[in-house]
Amino acid sequence: MKPLALLSVSDKAGLLELARELSTVYNYQLISSGGTAKALKAAELDVTKVSDYTGAPEILGGRVKTLHPRIHGGILARLELPEHQQDLEDNAIQPIRIVVVNLYPFEATIAKSDVTLADAIENIDIGGPTLIRASAKNYQHVAVLSSPSQYADFLAELQAHDGATTLEFRQKLAIAAFQHTQAYDLAIANYLNQQTISAPIPSTVADAEPSEPLTSNLSSSYTLLCNNPKPLRYGENPHQPATWYQVGATPKGWSAAQLLQGKELSYNNLLDLESARRIIAEFADDLPCAVIVKHNNPCGVAIAPTIAEAYQKAFDADSTSAFGGIVALNRAIDEETAKLLTKTFLECVVAPACVPSVAAILGKKQNLRVLVLSDLKHGSAETVKTIAGGMLVQRADDEAVNPEKWQIVTQKQPTPAQLKELAFTWKVCRHVKSNAITITKNFTTLGIGAGQMNRVGSTKIAIEQAGENTQGACLASDGFFPFDDTVRTAAAAGIVAIAQPGGSLRDADSIKAADELGLVMVFTGVRHFLH
Ligand code: 5GP
Repeated sequence: MKPLALLSVSDKAGLLELARELSTVYNYQLISSGGTAKALKAAELDVTKVSDYTGAPEILGGRVKTLHPRIHGGILARLELPEHQQDLEDNAIQPIRIVVVNLYPFEATIAKSDVTLADAIENIDIGGPTLIRASAKNYQHVAVLSSPSQYADFLAELQAHDGATTLEFRQKLAIAAFQHTQAYDLAIANYLNQQTISAPIPSTVADAEPSEPLTSNLSSSYTLLCNNPKPLRYGENPHQPATWYQVGATPKGWSAAQLLQGKELSYNNLLDLESARRIIAEFADDLPCAVIVKHNNPCGVAIAPTIAEAYQKAFDADSTSAFGGIVALNRAIDEETAKLLTKTFLECVVAPACVPSVAAILGKKQNLRVLVLSDLKHGSAETVKTIAGGMLVQRADDEAVNPEKWQIVTQKQPTPAQLKELAFTWKVCRHVKSNAITITKNFTTLGIGAGQMNRVGSTKIAIEQAGENTQGACLASDGFFPFDDTVRTAAAAGIVAIAQPGGSLRDADSIKAADELGLVMVFTGVRHFLH
């Protein structure tokens, strides 16, 4: 009996050449779905229709063509197993060794300006991905071609191996096959998601243009990294389509968090939550700590004897910015904290747990997203950013802060209390966008200067925000001081101790200024740029 090669393609490019070679040179019996069989017959090739082989006609206007045990049994059989051989024999199934499929053109369909939802749905291929996935799963025995672009290499492989293929080659085809079906499904999910986006959306974005779907090219460039794609309502802005991918096979981090109440998480929520998580992770094993983040920067961080007090202090640190903020806590949300949380408008709050009785209190703020993430401490080991034509991957900046390695560079030595405050301000500062300056007192942020293009500019912003409270406060800077101006500005405002990396050519100027002005200064030896 001749080995079987199944061909079922929408795009008939290159089909006849491939089929002719399989049939005449390598002696395969061709078996095809309706349209493909018709094209092969028209070219006078010997082909069996799938419906003749299975005895089951194509039905539902083509929705069911190849979904049959005689087809999928033939693809999925493990030929080395006697029991599989027996099943094939008992059910008159012939093994299928080559599967050539390309899918209904879903993306070309939805790209048409006059496409209807019904057209799009009819162009969701079901049997095709099933053939592709089944063949790819059984790549030990089956070669699967999912695109005409693979035909030439495939024929060269057959020629090089006397009509056979190597296991290595089939494995590569299987990987390409799974990538292809994943990208195909993602395009469908994104399209369907767009259908809901064009429904009325909140007033703040009501006048936005409806989003275009992500192209499959964009999505598929990340398919190796990513699992479980979840279309987001939109990205940073309403005109930007966006998807949330889970990295790795098992849900971890935000993919494992429970959303106890509130609307779906948005793209910006997730970014801010992650910024808040990184800060709270610094204090995960510390006394009760609260972090409030706005636009990826902290606007209030505080440590206190209770979590409610910590939240209140963090809120008071900059109550103007805290409006609409993202809150992270390192303790369970208790009733007292829940009451404080509902006093103002917040986007999200995340904590390692929630006391059951707070549900009724938080429930009064239906829009507040409440999340429980038991492990707030561990993030991804790497960070990834894209640039034109590539992406940049680096180890995350998550090395623990170690004040024992700090160098005291001034005549004046820090008191133990000042050293603790410097550690606090330094831990917050590393999570503020560069150029970053933090001013803290009593384990509470007073002023935060973020994202300025010069360091003294960030210092001035932080001082202005701290107002009259700067007397006796500590200051941290994520990078070294290129000049002594930051030290002088800080001293004039009443700052008494500074933590900075050191390493500038003009370190001596800054140390001299600190000594002159009676300040304590430590060099941490570590820089924490955050861009
Ligand atoms: P043909 O032109 O041969 O009639 O159809 C080929 C197309 O049908 C291919 O794109 C293939 O992926 C798809 N296909 C094969 N089997 C099935 C099936 O059982 N259901 C659906 N919906 N599509 C199928």
